[in-house]
Amino acid sequence: MPSVKYQKGDMVMGRWPGSNLYYEVKVLGFDVKSQLYTVIYKDGTELELKEQDIRSSSGFQIRTRSRSRSPGRRRSRSRSPARTTRRSSSRAAAAAASAAIAESTPSSRKETKLKDMVEVRVVPLATENNSNNKHEKKEENNAATKENEKSETKRDSEPEKNQGRYNLRRRKDEAKLEQQEKKDANVVTAPTPMVSRPLDFGGKIGAYFWLLFLPSWVLFVVLQVNLKDPSLANFPPPVPPLETFWDAQALGFVVLWILFQAILYILPVGKLSEGMPLRSGERLKYRTNGFFAIVMSAAVVAAAVHQGVDLTYIHSHFLQLAVATFLISVLLSVYLYVRSLYAAPGQLALGGSSGNVVYDFFKGHELNPRIKDFDLKFFCEMRPGLIGWCLINFALALAEMKQWGLASPSYAMILVNAFQLLYVVDGLWNEEAILTTMDLMHDGFGFMLAFGDLVWVPFTYTLQAYYLVSHPNALSLPAVVAIVLLKLVGFYIFRKSNSEKNAFRRSPSDPKLSHLKTIPTATGKSLLVSGWWGVVRHPNYLGDLIMALAWSLPCGFSHLLPWYYMIYFIILLVHRDSRDMSECRRKYGSAWDEYCRTVRYRIIPRVY
Ligand code: NDP
Repeated sequence: MPSVKYQKGDMVMGRWPGSNLYYEVKVLGFDVKSQLYTVIYKDGTELELKEQDIRSSSGFQIRTRSRSRSPGRRRSRSRSPARTTRRSSSRAAAAAASAAIAESTPSSRKETKLKDMVEVRVVPLATENNSNNKHEKKEENNAATKENEKSETKRDSEPEKNQGRYNLRRRKDEAKLEQQEKKDANVVTAPTPMVSRPLDFGGKIGAYFWLLFLPSWVLFVVLQVNLKDPSLANFPPPVPPLETFWDAQALGFVVLWILFQAILYILPVGKLSEGMPLRSGERLKYRTNGFFAIVMSAAVVAAAVHQGVDLTYIHSHFLQLAVATFLISVLLSVYLYVRSLYAAPGQLALGGSSGNVVYDFFKGHELNPRIKDFDLKFFCEMRPGLIGWCLINFALALAEMKQWGLASPSYAMILVNAFQLLYVVDGLWNEEAILTTMDLMHDGFGFMLAFGDLVWVPFTYTLQAYYLVSHPNALSLPAVVAIVLLKLVGFYIFRKSNSEKNAFRRSPSDPKLSHLKTIPTATGKSLLVSGWWGVVRHPNYLGDLIMALAWSLPCGFSHLLPWYYMIYFIILLVHRDSRDMSECRRKYGSAWDEYCRTVRYRIIPRVY
């Protein structure tokens, strides 16, 4: 068995991933299988490091410097325009490097703690540096992410003094150190030492695949649902002539709808809620007036119908509306990617910063893109698509009545409409709760979310209602009661668990939550280990899946197409759960392992 070089409790120097800066860390353990050491930094961050990223403390000279004393640092943490011109602006490189590291450190969300924290800047001794010379050089070549490599290339063409800002400095160079730091204050900005993350969704190749597959899939189901026999086992229907995809009026309606929702969003009505602390410690404010927006939208739609507007246009122009929305989502994604190139390191999403253009475009490079106070991600997540989903469902109910000459929609259509309306209204009523979800906290805003929010949600989540327009399914009263009960059970689990976590994250010391058991973590946050979050690790997903079942049941069992949402949702939530597990494992280290040991099942008790 190979010997373990560093033991639990050893104080050593750990390299911060993606940089050549070393910080004092304590070894918490060694995993033989992965050959990784779990270490904890002084600010509480737990990370797993390879042996080659750890050095013994004796080979280093530790220079301490107060963060607050560095004017360069203060400047680099500000939101000044200088920050947004990453590739061209001048600022203190040394400060930028360490500030960027601080910004990419999960635990740096505690602003006050960080401000007071004394940075430990580490310079390895010449002897150790020499002894590791070969390794050092190799590491310096490997450490940077692809993005850094790009900047690296650029830096290569810059004067010698601009290079080596991340190089470990030898003790014998100490005399030059102060001089260098002064020079650093005037050099071109540093590359972003983002912490590299394992890539999701099949990585770079996966990103190409999803970019092509997702729109094709929407096209496939939209064409399929119009068929008399919409079996998923059928060959895809022939692609209609190109001109049928395009309708300028449909584009106009989509643009109007989005603008209308944007106006409702910016109205100074409703609460201003605070998001979770960012890596910089800052908390963004969000106008959570979603409920107001859906009520106003309903009033306007009702007035339009009263004035004779024929909403069944949405049914007859479904494909054209979907295509128009797709175009808008692509334009938005391009805009988001381009603007993300000018965003400061601290504003980027760790998971969407691989350095690969296609992957970052797909996954979302910038975390919270905003135009002034207008938060593009929050708006798209909660408004045009979500409220549009209800509008489309309503139009499809009218289309069913028109098609079959009914005085009221069928039971099945009423159930689908009512269930999904409840889901959306609940989401908007509890809009603040979305601020503690993965999308808002961790995922960047790129094609994945833009397309998902604007196209996928309104044009595939409405498939059950669309299916029912031409494929009626008669339901007996007992069946209706059973389906309603199922929906209510799912809704109860979903709402209670989401609210419990949201309340706990917002106010961990709330006396109303004092009965809940928690596990402390090194980041200062705790994990709920009783209540709903003690039943399974994702009770909210369980509730959501039960509700998805209740949405499909009204459509019967003649075809798989209306079950598409259920199938897709299982895949989505299982994958989402595993993404979240990895993320939490990275954030919380051994505390997360303890949570997983205590709460053994992920989504379904005793099953999964
Ligand atoms: P969650 O709301 O479950 O958020 C996951 C985060 O919660 C974790 O990253 C962690 O963040 C925190 N957390 C995890 N375990 C615990 C614990 N034991 N105690 C305290 N905090 C914990 O995930 P999602 O954002 O994926 O889902 C939110 C809701 O949206 C769900 O109900 C889901 O079903 C629904 N959803 C619906 C979709 C749809 O299309 N209909 C699509 C996706 C989601 P931290 O510790 O950093 O706070």
